Amino acid sequence: MKYTAIQNYINGQFVSAGTSKTMEVISPLDGNLLSTVPMSSRADLDTAVAAAKKAFPAWSRTPIKERVQVFFKYKTLLEKHLKELAELCSEENGKTYGESVAEIEKCIELTEFATSLPQLVTGEVLEVSRGVECRTEHVPLGVVASIVPFNFPSMVPNWTLPNAIALGNCMIIKPSEKVPLSCGRLAELLKEAGLPDGVFNVVHGDVEIVEAICDHPDIEAVSFVGSTKVAKIVYQRATSNYKRCLALGGAKNHLMVLPNAITGMTAQNVAASMSGCAGQRCMAASAMIGVGNVDAIIDKICEEARKIVPGQNLGAVINKASQERIERFIGEAERDGAKILVDGRNTKVAGKENGTYVGPTVIDHVTPAMSVATEEIFGPVISIMRTNTVDEALAIENANPYGNAASVFTQNGGMARYIIDRASAGMIGVNVGVPVPREPFSFGGWNESKFGVGDITGKSSIEFWTKLKKSTTKWNAEAGVNWMS
Ligand code: NAD
Repeated sequence: MKYTAIQNYINGQFVSAGTSKTMEVISPLDGNLLSTVPMSSRADLDTAVAAAKKAFPAWSRTPIKERVQVFFKYKTLLEKHLKELAELCSEENGKTYGESVAEIEKCIELTEFATSLPQLVTGEVLEVSRGVECRTEHVPLGVVASIVPFNFPSMVPNWTLPNAIALGNCMIIKPSEKVPLSCGRLAELLKEAGLPDGVFNVVHGDVEIVEAICDHPDIEAVSFVGSTKVAKIVYQRATSNYKRCLALGGAKNHLMVLPNAITGMTAQNVAASMSGCAGQRCMAASAMIGVGNVDAIIDKICEEARKIVPGQNLGAVINKASQERIERFIGEAERDGAKILVDGRNTKVAGKENGTYVGPTVIDHVTPAMSVATEEIFGPVISIMRTNTVDEALAIENANPYGNAASVFTQNGGMARYIIDRASAGMIGVNVGVPVPREPFSFGGWNESKFGVGDITGKSSIEFWTKLKKSTTKWNAEAGVNWMS
């Protein structure tokens, strides 16, 4: 085992969970055992919540300009340890080193945004009648929780922790049991940056801890990122316990390719979008709709896909079950009459025979009812459908239950606008394969890709992590003559 057994991080200390139940943490790159992660109990969560609750009064009363000083330091620590954090990310998640570097760079950008929060959360004040002022302030909620998925071990935690904590909350994070190592390292860096003990806590585990978070009377708000199935469970359970909840779910992102798209650029974008992070991105292109004759572009997509080599510029998928699931989808499409143009099944990487790899896969002549057209595959696979018109393409995109992202590739600005207006997704790309908004713009999908109001990052997150206090004050003698007396 490469690392010592993972522990929870509570009140500024690494502590053993009060249970002997653990799971193995296996590197998808080569199948090697990295560590074990505890399946904590409700009692462990209680201890973490108590620590966070104790830390809250002092932290929430610390002026925000002081609170963000921790994040200025945290940002420089992320920069200093970028290489080490990226290596850890690749090891536990299976993505390439380059992709992991990009992930840590995004953490830095997210932290930069958090350091700008003092400029964004000023309240409002108005003299509403003589001597009477109304004023609003954003105040923190208290103890909040963040439940995160496996596909971005550092970035998704950093979607929530810098903003929630800079805004004055104390946080419990529940990492994915598949990639639990990065969060512990982030906790160490936050401590080194000067974050007081108890403000950030990590409790490892699975379903039991997620349920306990949703039920805990001292947790005010829950953010969740993961599959739609679990997002629905968490949203229902947390809100039925009267908590604020924002739950981001799965995706099936459609790229619409028009005949006037630039061939080389479009093909590169499609191939990169479907295969980046081995297709394990909620913003990955999963379905492509060719409108009219786009055969030359499809040929070029295949050419680009063949340049993507597992173990070199393509990482591993998270585990054996995922590899088998992806290969099953490809097999179903083949049986249903689709044409496999590039086939990533049965991929082995020399020297890493126990790694879990799927090569880039391009499937053409998919019909909208096939499972590869309807299901989130979460692998480096693109399913190509064909239509004669843009409206037919939009009808397919609109009918899918998700709504994270959609993109159009065209050189016709009017047509791009027509699609922006009609695609049923929260994040739209024009000649962009992965249309993730950069800070300060917020991240969040529609439909079954997100449950709850607002977005998880950027300016929108301020509303989620704070509540408004409205005060009305009257001090002068004249106040006796106005209607507020
Ligand atoms: P997942 O839903 O299986 O797990 C997410 C979290 O929920 C983990 O911490 C896990 O321990 C916990 N969990 C799993 N099953 C549970 C259950 N039955 N009850 C309670 N908790 C449970 O997701 P994953 O496989 O880790 O991540 C991949 C999914 O996340 C994909 O569907 C992907 O699209 C989605 N995702 C979405 C976004 C977004 O922004 N919309 C971003 C990243 C990932």
